[in-house]
Amino acid sequence: MSVEKIYCIYCGATVEKGATFCPNCGAALTDAKPAPSATEPVSQPVSYQQSSYEQPSVTVVTTPPPPAKTDNSLGTVSMVTGILGLLCMPGILGIVAIITGHIALSRGKNPMAIAGLVLGYISVAGVILYLVLVITLGLWM
Ligand SMILES: [Zn+2]
Repeated sequence: MSVEKIYCIYCGATVEKGATFCPNCGAALTDAKPAPSATEPVSQPVSYQQSSYEQPSVTVVTTPPPPAKTDNSLGTVSMVTGILGLLCMPGILGIVAIITGHIALSRGKNPMAIAGLVLGYISVAGVILYLVLVITLGLWM
């Protein structure tokens, strides 16, 4: 009795240890050592495709492109000061809008600088008209 015997889990017959099949019922006796499942992980290398690396760059595209010229900032300053000049302190802010608008226009055509220039001239002209009105009314009174 030197050969070790095990019992078949299906029919209960004694089988030599190490046998892969039961000689009585023919069932596979693979409970002792797991079968090498080399053919099963074939579906896994699909996840190694590099398409996932290209997708994060798509979200970056949604960000607005930066302004091409830095001169636009000066035109924006001119327009903002021109608008503010019409609302409050028309003389000072109007002059600032005219100066910044001229500088921005000297660097390149800028619609915002033109708007700032127009608003600045309007506010300054309003101040001049106001002063003229006050002076003339003061002279008449
Ligand atoms: Zn068996």
